[in-house]
Amino acid sequence: MSGVSVTKDVRDAAGAADDLVVLSNVNKHFGALHVLQDIDLSIARGEVVVVIGPSGSGKSTLCRTINRLETIDSGSITVDGKQLPSEGKALAKLRADVGMVFQSFNLFAHKTVLQNVMLGQLKVRKADQAAALEKAKSLLDRVGVGSQADKYPAQLSGGQQQRVAIARALAMDPKVMLFDEPTSALDPEMINEVLEVMQQLAREGMTMVVVTHEMGFARSAANRVVFMADGKIVEEATPEQFFSNPRSDRAKDFLSKIL
Ligand code: ADP
Ligand code: MG
Repeated sequence: MSGVSVTKDVRDAAGAADDLVVLSNVNKHFGALHVLQDIDLSIARGEVVVVIGPSGSGKSTLCRTINRLETIDSGSITVDGKQLPSEGKALAKLRADVGMVFQSFNLFAHKTVLQNVMLGQLKVRKADQAAALEKAKSLLDRVGVGSQADKYPAQLSGGQQQRVAIARALAMDPKVMLFDEPTSALDPEMINEVLEVMQQLAREGMTMVVVTHEMGFARSAANRVVFMADGKIVEEATPEQFFSNPRSDRAKDFLSKIL
């Protein structure tokens, strides 16, 4: 099996049974703006999909529809074979199953780092206090911020805060993790410490959707690159194919500006 065809072979062999997230013919408008246009995207269990494209192309909106931070106008989205719930406990559970890490960290400012990682376990997963504490400590160690557990988010660097945000999402035992430009707000020297945690997750088999401009990460961690422009998926390929031989003019133009 050649490297270039791995993704395709995985997808053909696995078929629908192993698709964890499936978007079919998804459309969404913001007023007159058709922000997602006939989006078809299936993400296999264990797959790492990197989404790239110009600002305003709909990447964040795409992510946000998958855990229903945004509703869609038509089409369907399933996670692990189930349509997204619209409200109540089922929606809280969906948001735990679909972890999300934002550009702006979004930690609870008035909770300690440890409390940030324990809260969802207690409230949504109904874990007991001791189990939640043990898991939070272990995850904080794993992302390299165990010594910061009793501090408040504002006392941490951006890179540390983002690693706490990753630990907080992981504490819910998510089925898939969505990352929306997780390193875009970070000072350059902190980008790698966050990317390394994400690389490790990818190696461990986490299913991931990652919106990023970090092309080094895309090359080394992605099974597939999805290129969006103007609300459409314009091109999908393995990173090798995409970076060496983009097919569309939009992708060629985009790459010429960032590489
Ligand atoms: P990207 O993440 O690729 O930069 P977004 O998904 O954030 O793109 O946005 C796509 C388009 O939708 C942009 O034109 C943006 O201004 C618009 N948009 C995003 N969120 C909203 C909203 N809540 N209301 C109105 N327009 C929005
Ligand atoms: Mg965005």
